[in-house]
Amino acid sequence: MDGCIFCKIVSGEIPSFKILETDKCIAILDINPANPGHTLIVSKEHFDNVYSIDDDVLSDMMLVAKKIARRLKERLGCKGVNIIMNNEKIAGQIIPHAHIHVIPRFDDDKVIITYTKKQMAKEQFAEIAKRLSEEEQEEHEESGEEAPKENIKEEWVFR
Ligand SMILES: [Zn+2]
Repeated sequence: MDGCIFCKIVSGEIPSFKILETDKCIAILDINPANPGHTLIVSKEHFDNVYSIDDDVLSDMMLVAKKIARRLKERLGCKGVNIIMNNEKIAGQIIPHAHIHVIPRFDDDKVIITYTKKQMAKEQFAEIAKRLSEEEQEEHEESGEEAPKENIKEEWVFR
């Protein structure tokens, strides 16, 4: 896509520190790393985010993220990794070209990835679970198949 910084990195127009490459994605060092070794998995084809990305491309990117995570542990000695995909501006996506962050974690690295836990009533959980567990109607209408019977768990575990 014109003007997209990641498309330019994929094409080589903008240089990058490339770690590995598949036919669907590249893994490069983030130029503004949270920690040394912070890697970005970037799709070769332009997709805006998780909503529109092809399944096989996203699958490939996740497998590359796994491989990078192992390398970070084995070769840089990190104690853990965060694997993050931000989607849309409100979620912190700065460049609108689908990418996954693999962030190595070290003792006292001052990296903060957190959220405040919200209180919700049991009824609210049940309502949200109901809405989210319903199958997409369009897909079944298109294929002419009958929607599968819902299998909603009645039991909820609260911590
Ligand atoms: Zn792009």
